[in-house]
Amino acid sequence: MKIIIIGSVAAGTSVAAKARRNQENVEITIYEKDSDISYSGCGLPYYIGEDYIKRDNLTPRTPSWFKKRFNIDINTQHEVIDINPSTQTLTIRNLATGDLFQDKYDKLVLATGATPFIPPIKNLNQKHVFSLRNVHQADSILNFISNHAPKHAAIIGSGYIGLEMAENLQNRGLKVSIIEMEALPMPALDPDVSVHILKELKNKKIEFYGNETADSILHFNENKFVELKSGKQIKADLVIVSTGVKPQTELAKNINLQTSVHGAIRVNEHMQTSIDNIYAVGDCAVAYSRIDFEPVWVPLGSTANKMGRICGDHITGGSLKFEGILGTGIFKVFDLSVATTGFTEEEARNKGYNIAVHHNFKPNQTEYFASSSEMMIKMIADKDTGKILGAQIIGKNGVDKRIDVIATAITFGATAEQLFHLDLAYAPPFSTTKDPVHYSGMVLN
Ligand code: FAD
Repeated sequence: MKIIIIGSVAAGTSVAAKARRNQENVEITIYEKDSDISYSGCGLPYYIGEDYIKRDNLTPRTPSWFKKRFNIDINTQHEVIDINPSTQTLTIRNLATGDLFQDKYDKLVLATGATPFIPPIKNLNQKHVFSLRNVHQADSILNFISNHAPKHAAIIGSGYIGLEMAENLQNRGLKVSIIEMEALPMPALDPDVSVHILKELKNKKIEFYGNETADSILHFNENKFVELKSGKQIKADLVIVSTGVKPQTELAKNINLQTSVHGAIRVNEHMQTSIDNIYAVGDCAVAYSRIDFEPVWVPLGSTANKMGRICGDHITGGSLKFEGILGTGIFKVFDLSVATTGFTEEEARNKGYNIAVHHNFKPNQTEYFASSSEMMIKMIADKDTGKILGAQIIGKNGVDKRIDVIATAITFGATAEQLFHLDLAYAPPFSTTKDPVHYSGMVLN
């Protein structure tokens, strides 16, 4: 059997590794149009912001490592330009030579990921304007900083990538402004959570322009600005466009694969698409909610890896099934950690749940420790069943462990009341005798 995988970052390499672990005798080939493989996209903002994080830290694996360790053939700088499902053949362009050739698959996996969504901003195509998706783009930003010493950066869009970039560009000595269409940063979260991010940005001297839309990139002589629709001009000799991503599905569209929310490829619990012997995994594929089983598209590396493993297993005769996601995510913005799992209040209301909402402000550890600080847990539960529907947590320390406890509880269908009964670890450096998670359970029952 010959397995061909298109795309070699988080999802594609995960398919290949699991397929090889399951079976020694299958032939596994990956085509990747980029020259980097299996890199940590999640580390890119920190690579830009921190001298001690090197390119090699983000790209620890090479095609020869995969060949030696797993007997997998990874062809970089090879773009798949066409799929013919009836003959099960692909047309591939070698980007180094321009040569076209064909290859034949028994099982094909699309792991083509996502690409930045670029809004219609005038004069965007300039040397000081970047988006951030891969290691080359991070290299270009770093080179631009060292060759041109920009002083003012404007970040368009304040999702988690924009916020991580704000911190890392400030780390490089730039004065940073953020431009956001919505009133508050990180609009995917509820406003009573995002407002704390805004406070942190202000504390750290980041200029935040909310309810503003970038209209054009202006460049007169040495003066560079982002002009907003309101007419304001924001000084910016470096611009980062971080206004979200879209699934990379051109190949899928050409063969009429069924798609779902946000145009991501529809897959079943084994990651099979609507055409026989074709699978899709990672950011190009749709997931579904573990809570209400509706399709959702939350493009994250954590999900991409999991989908890849499930697909690699199914192709080679295993029985792993995808069980849905909660969209659990976490990021850091300066001194704050921000995390979410399950539905936000707005999502739960839009879905018609009869909800109870509670905001719980508690120290992360016993207060006499110097590192003790307050965290806020916003929890949403279903009044009819008592089940937890979601939580958002914001604080300095210990946010990661609380969000994971709550994600685990939701995964197993816990009610808010049951949180109080969890036997969680306690010692003064780590928690309080009743953990902040317990308090949420005590109030929301
Ligand atoms: P991708 O990483 O997009 O890889 C797809 C690959 O397919 C690409 O290399 C592309 O070149 C290749 N390809 C596409 N079409 C073709 C073709 N026709 N022929 C050949 N090759 C093709 N996620 C988290 O969970 N936590 C985080 O903290 C986090 N931080 C992030 C920070 C940044 C700055 C970015 C950019 C992303 C972050 N993510 C994070 C998201 C995470 O990186 C992605 O979810 C993950 O990379 C998705 O993996 P993937 O393999 O599905 O797709």
